[in-house]
Amino acid sequence: LGLPTAPVRAPERRRTRQIHVGDVPVGGNAPISVQTMTTTNTADIDATLQQIAEVTAAGCDIVRVAVPSADDAAALPTIAAKSPIPVIADIHFQPRYVFAAIDAGCAAVRVNPGNIKKFDDRVGEIAKAAGEAGVPLRIGVNAGSLDARLLAKHGGATPAALVESALWECSLFEEHGFTDIKIAVKHHDPPTMIAANRLLAERCDYPLHLGITEAGPAFQGSVKSAVAFGVLLSEGIGDTIRVSLSAPPVDQVKAGCHILASLGLRSRKLEIVSCPGCGRLQVDIHALAARVEAAFDGFPHPLRIAVMGCVVNGPGEAREADLGVSCGNGKGQIFRHGEVITTVPESKIVETLLQEALHLVSDLQPV
Ligand code: SF4
Repeated sequence: LGLPTAPVRAPERRRTRQIHVGDVPVGGNAPISVQTMTTTNTADIDATLQQIAEVTAAGCDIVRVAVPSADDAAALPTIAAKSPIPVIADIHFQPRYVFAAIDAGCAAVRVNPGNIKKFDDRVGEIAKAAGEAGVPLRIGVNAGSLDARLLAKHGGATPAALVESALWECSLFEEHGFTDIKIAVKHHDPPTMIAANRLLAERCDYPLHLGITEAGPAFQGSVKSAVAFGVLLSEGIGDTIRVSLSAPPVDQVKAGCHILASLGLRSRKLEIVSCPGCGRLQVDIHALAARVEAAFDGFPHPLRIAVMGCVVNGPGEAREADLGVSCGNGKGQIFRHGEVITTVPESKIVETLLQEALHLVSDLQPV
C-alpha cells in the first residue's frame, strides 16, 4: 500500500541553548523536564518540603515556590538546601526578593518584569548577581500581566504582543551581557499559546517553558494542556513543561509525565490499558480500572496492564500487554502476554494482577 513501515520516533527537537537549573539541564536536547509549583505557604518550611517530596516521588524534576513576603524569602535557604530537586523562586513585584533568592541558593529565579516596579533600574544589578551566582532567570510573560503599551499596540494579548514583551524583557538583560535565560509565554487559550510559542521559537534560541495559564479543573486543564503541549512538542518546540491545574501539584506532575510519555519523550513507568466498555460488559470496568490504578500507584517497572470488560475480545485486544484481565460471569481471566494463565473470582482480580506483576518483574531493576 506504500505505507511507511519504520517505527514512529519521538519528534526531533528544536535546537536551543542549554541552561542549568541546579543539576537539571534545560534545552540543548536535554530531556524535557516536568515542573510544578507548591501550594503551601512557602514560609511553612516543613509543609513545603513535604509537598516537594510528594511531587518528586510523582516524577517532578524542578519545583517552583512563590515568594510573596519577607517570611517566604527567609524560608528559601532551608528549602533550597533540603529540597531533593532544584527550587525556582517565583518573584512578582519585589526586586529585593530576587537578590534574596539568589543568596539563598535557589537554582533559578522566575521574574516577571511587567510586574516589578522600577524594574528597569534594577536589571543591571539582577543580571550581575545572577550571573556571578550562575543562577538562570526565567522570563515569564502572562496575558494578564502584559504591559499596557503592548496591549494597546497589538489590540490585546495576541501572540505577537506576548512575544514582543518576552523578547523586550530578554533584551534588558542581554544589554548587561546576561543570557542565562529561559522564557515562558503563557495564555489560557491553547491556539494563542501555540501561536506565541511557535513565533518565539522562530525568533530566539532560548529554551522554552510551556504552560497554559488558568487551564482550569483537572479534567479540562489536562486536556487543554495536552492539546497545546502535544502540538508544540510534536514540532520539537518546548524544553520544560508545567501543567497548571486547579488540582494538587502531584496531579499536575502526573499529567505532565503522561503527556511526555504519550509522545515518547519520557519513558513510561506503568501503563494501564483499559477498555471503554460496550454492550458486552459484564463488570463495572470504570471501578475496576480505578482499583487497578490505585493498586499499582508508584509501581516502579514499565509494565503494561490491560483491564478488559469481557472475555470475548479481552486478551486479543490487549495482546501487547504484559499482563491483563478480561472479565465475565463474576470472574476474571488473568492473561500474560495474551495467554490465559488462570481464572479467579472478581474479588481476587486486583491482588492476582499485583502478584503476577511482582513475579514478572522479580528479575528486573526498578526504572
Ligand atoms: Fe466491549 Fe469487551 Fe472490547 Fe471492553 S473488551 S470494549 S467489553 S468488546
